[in-house]
Amino acid sequence: MVLYTPGRTTKYSSKNIDSGIQFHFLGGGNEVGNVGCVIEDSTGTRLLIDYGLAPTRPPKYPDECPPISDAIITHSHIDHIGMAPWLTQHQNIRLHGTSLTADVSEIMWRDTYKVSSIEGYPLAWDKRDMEYALDSWYPHEYGEWFKVGAWKCRLHRAGHLPGAAMVEIKTPTHSILWSGDIDTRDSPNTLGAIPVECDILCLEGTYGGREHPDRPKEEQKLVQKVLDIVGKRGVALIPAFASGRGQDILMILHQYAPHLNVHFDGMGTRITSHWFDNPQHIRDPNRLKDMWRWVKRVSGKSDRKKALTADVIVTTSGMLDGGPALWYLNRLRHDLSNEILLTGYQAEGSGGRKLLDEGKINIFRNLIQIDLEITRFQLSNHAGHSELCNFARECKPKHLILFHAPDEGRNDIFSELSEEMETHLPVNGRPIQIDP
Ligand SMILES: [Zn+2]
Repeated sequence: MVLYTPGRTTKYSSKNIDSGIQFHFLGGGNEVGNVGCVIEDSTGTRLLIDYGLAPTRPPKYPDECPPISDAIITHSHIDHIGMAPWLTQHQNIRLHGTSLTADVSEIMWRDTYKVSSIEGYPLAWDKRDMEYALDSWYPHEYGEWFKVGAWKCRLHRAGHLPGAAMVEIKTPTHSILWSGDIDTRDSPNTLGAIPVECDILCLEGTYGGREHPDRPKEEQKLVQKVLDIVGKRGVALIPAFASGRGQDILMILHQYAPHLNVHFDGMGTRITSHWFDNPQHIRDPNRLKDMWRWVKRVSGKSDRKKALTADVIVTTSGMLDGGPALWYLNRLRHDLSNEILLTGYQAEGSGGRKLLDEGKINIFRNLIQIDLEITRFQLSNHAGHSELCNFARECKPKHLILFHAPDEGRNDIFSELSEEMETHLPVNGRPIQIDP
């Protein structure tokens, strides 16, 4: 099934920009995930930032991208990177990003391809496109300037996960900072993002209107819960994202409860090996190495059976939509001393969401009642409301463009900041023009 026909489905205007600078969201403007934004000015320079898909069932895609020559990918989460193979095959573009994002991209794309085949939904690109995308990477270190048309760009640490980047752009008339997904707080494997002064700040608002609990306290709560479960001879099943959250949880457990028998399963094991290849992106590579020697990595069926007698299993998928997490849950569900600990956002329509709302989940196509106790922890890798507002103030922009946010969340940021800076709420497909 062809989802994109070049030149036929784009809403992007072919008119030249006379002055100023234009931001056109293909996706992620007035929604979370599915990000893609084309920035263009009167020099004719055009840059795409991110091109993802929302991993819903079926997936949601951004609008078709107009002709471009360069795209910057902020990080390797699928809602920012998932559609890049379509782009490189159809437009022969350069993909810019950090070396770690480039390294991890192959695992993310292969997994997306595999899941789409298993689930039977169409994907706009195939394996050949993916190979093409892998050859299209131009990796950059943080702080290193590179040219895109008449502009200069460089990447900065975003704090969201190792290798995640913010993008600073200098055009002849404006300086722009694109936050990507950010966290200004330090986490076990990366330090937080630092504000960069700019004229125009494009800021994600996933957690607009919501404050996070104190992270060290939340980490302690998680460790205590795990110890309680182990104390009654249960297994703590912790579904976690493969890139970021899973490794953070392992670092926390290694630090505070090293006597536990902890197993790690799923594609996070392969992603972590790329972290070791890119130590400049890791907060403390030696501590990560110590943790890696300590945790038991699951690499086959017999390992998986052994893991059933562990104290803790950390595994994908983070939203219980597939992966080894369901295999484990199907076996652990019979013994009520076992418990499930959820540490991330559970999207509408995901397995984890169904489990929370209805106490049931689809396992291998059967709807199954789960009676295990479920506890949620707030270990987000996105800045909360106050962190977002403080970050915006410290960047001192004249204009603020709030994207990648639920409606309520961005309205809350708007009410707090709109008197201090001109605040824009983008809508997909409706360009925002900012004059010099
Ligand atoms: Zn992300």
